[in-house]
Amino acid sequence: MTGTGTSSVGRSAELFARAEQVVPGGVNSPVRAFRSVGGTPRFMVAGSGPWLTDADGHRYVDLVSSWGPMILGHAHPAVVEAVREAASAGLSFGTPTGGEVDLAEELVRRVEPVEQVRLVNSGTEATMSAVRLARGFTGRSVVVKFAGCYHGHVDALLAEAGSGVATFGLPSTPGVTGAQATDTIVLPYNDLDGVAQVFAERGQDIACVITEAAAGNMGAVAPDDGFNAGLKRLCQAHGALLIIDEVMTGFRVSSAGWYGLEGVAGDLYCFGKVMSGGLPAAAFGGRADVMAQLAPAGPVYQAGTLAGNPVAVAAGLTTLRHATPEVYTALDANADRLHGLFTDALTEAGVVHTIQRAGSLISIRFAEGVGRDYDDMRAAETWRFPPFFHALLDHGVYAPPSVFEACFISAALDDDAFSVIADALPVAARAAAA
Ligand code: PLP
Repeated sequence: MTGTGTSSVGRSAELFARAEQVVPGGVNSPVRAFRSVGGTPRFMVAGSGPWLTDADGHRYVDLVSSWGPMILGHAHPAVVEAVREAASAGLSFGTPTGGEVDLAEELVRRVEPVEQVRLVNSGTEATMSAVRLARGFTGRSVVVKFAGCYHGHVDALLAEAGSGVATFGLPSTPGVTGAQATDTIVLPYNDLDGVAQVFAERGQDIACVITEAAAGNMGAVAPDDGFNAGLKRLCQAHGALLIIDEVMTGFRVSSAGWYGLEGVAGDLYCFGKVMSGGLPAAAFGGRADVMAQLAPAGPVYQAGTLAGNPVAVAAGLTTLRHATPEVYTALDANADRLHGLFTDALTEAGVVHTIQRAGSLISIRFAEGVGRDYDDMRAAETWRFPPFFHALLDHGVYAPPSVFEACFISAALDDDAFSVIADALPVAARAAAA
């Protein structure tokens, strides 16, 4: 079905009403609640290739891909088979398994600076553990992060930026204490001078700089040429570690993630999403001498009952093994095709816009000129997004329900899927123009 016309969302509405009684806000992760776009979140019942089907039977082209993991499309037969096989052999042993070794070897093989990895259950665990390890390794406490970069809901990394060269983090959510935020310095993204200044002032205290390899959580914002390399240089000069968060970009923008495009070596990396195949799995890793500080090899404690779960490992490993060069070519081609369709429709409707790209990550900024940091991205005409989003949804395209999220495309997007997108976009662009 194309142009699904999702006027009837009775079943989703009913499920949401029930969910609101027993789950805060009705969802298990806030952005799913559609708060920034309004309307009824769609409860999905199935996914196949580039398509999602909701509880009312509407079919959508999926531009979210479960927030990243599903680069091969939904229910890829080889991944499903691997999961079935692994599950039949036992769901969890709490012992080492061969699959964990295979997955670790695959990650180490793909990303050269990563010599050792530890598997965890979520990107949040990966960044939390990487920061702890960096603090343990350096014996320092301060973490530098960038405004608009999201690294999961780690207390120290939820600290938000004010404006200015160096802002000492303030808790941006109740529940994060001032003490936790005090050790976090938040700087504007893509401002290397700001980082240099902070290192000049506090270099002895800084354990690490953590950055998204390319930012994808304020919309897609690529690092300026030399930004990541400059971070590396400053970290090295001051004895701090560079943590490159590739949870979003890893194994998506190239077979080696953003590292495959730019080649700046971090000391530690965080991975998740694609390497999970859609089940709960993530990893952090990097220099062997740093990783050697982790228990039981070293003194920095980190652990997990379900870490390296055999079913999740099977999904991740099989996904990576099927993420061939052809898949990355298809992802890039699909991103270019979507980019072209966005541009044509918005231009035709007279909507001022810029398509933001970071490899195959793609988002729309409703303003002229490429946004380089969080302030730029927030300064756009963000109010144009909700009507744009809902017109897409009503015409069978499931886009990320926030202007600050990038589209995650899959290699499974085919001509049928693109024809639904091409039909929906002019309507959405006119809605954005209104
Ligand atoms: N780091 C980045 C760059 C992310 O985009 C995310 C999630 O979107 C995370 C970390 C946290 O991952 P998770 O949601 O699996 O905890």
